[in-house]
Amino acid sequence: MTTLGLDVGATTIKGAAVDDDGMILARHTEYTPSEGTSREIEDAIVRCLEILRDEVPTARAVGLAAAGWIGADRRSVIFSANFPSWREEPLVEQLEARSGLPVVLENDANAAAWGEFRFGAGAGTNSMAAITLGSGVGGALVVNGALVRGFQGAAGEIGHSVMITDGYPCNCGRHGCMENYVSGRSINRRALPVLGDADLYALARAGDERALELYTQFGGYLGRGLANVAMLVNPERVVVSGGVAEAFDLFVEPAMAAMRAELGPAWQALAPTFAVGMLGSDAGRLGAADLARSAVTH
Ligand SMILES: [Zn+2]
Repeated sequence: MTTLGLDVGATTIKGAAVDDDGMILARHTEYTPSEGTSREIEDAIVRCLEILRDEVPTARAVGLAAAGWIGADRRSVIFSANFPSWREEPLVEQLEARSGLPVVLENDANAAAWGEFRFGAGAGTNSMAAITLGSGVGGALVVNGALVRGFQGAAGEIGHSVMITDGYPCNCGRHGCMENYVSGRSINRRALPVLGDADLYALARAGDERALELYTQFGGYLGRGLANVAMLVNPERVVVSGGVAEAFDLFVEPAMAAMRAELGPAWQALAPTFAVGMLGSDAGRLGAADLARSAVTH
């Protein structure tokens, strides 16, 4: 069955028509009026849907990945930092009425993790953790073949698990969250006194010892934080995506070593493998489309 997957982000809506095997049959991107009214955002989503349906008229359902806290019934967006007008927004009801198709809503980090699980770096596993290392840190969990959403739909916030007691203050109001040690923002913060304005990534690629050491430290924090995830959900693989993942080969070994050290001799067998995400910016739309397909076929 062909379905549509739309990844509604702060700047763009990335849409695709996708078949059962995760093949993208058509794509379309719309700009997101994130500061607009909920009606304006909805109009942009509907425009994206209509363009894809013109190209692939057989599409039977819509999967929507949205940056925000999705209600437990998965019909509305409770809150979104990116869309000020989305407060208790009944998105599914509105879009089903306007499109005439069943609509399935999912948090964007969950949808991207699902895409990697079904068609990317997590394929073939039955349990995986996904961590997105961008300016912030996103997380999602697939356990025994199913997304973990939790009581209120907020499970999997790996980035806001506390790693350092009384550590660096986080945007979320807590202290010492993992996000403050393994995000792009955090590595830039540590690089500034060492390298000034120089490009950390370029210097590391050129073999600069100070830049490489920063990535080694970064891997240490990542492995340490993910040891807690290993203890809690026992993933077979950790899939790493986001901007910082371009340096995956520079931090993966220190991350694995730190994780093994943190787990200690008794729990070595719980250390998951690490892989870099394969789907890039398609992960969210592929995951959303597949979630829509499974919702209407089950
Ligand atoms: Zn936090």
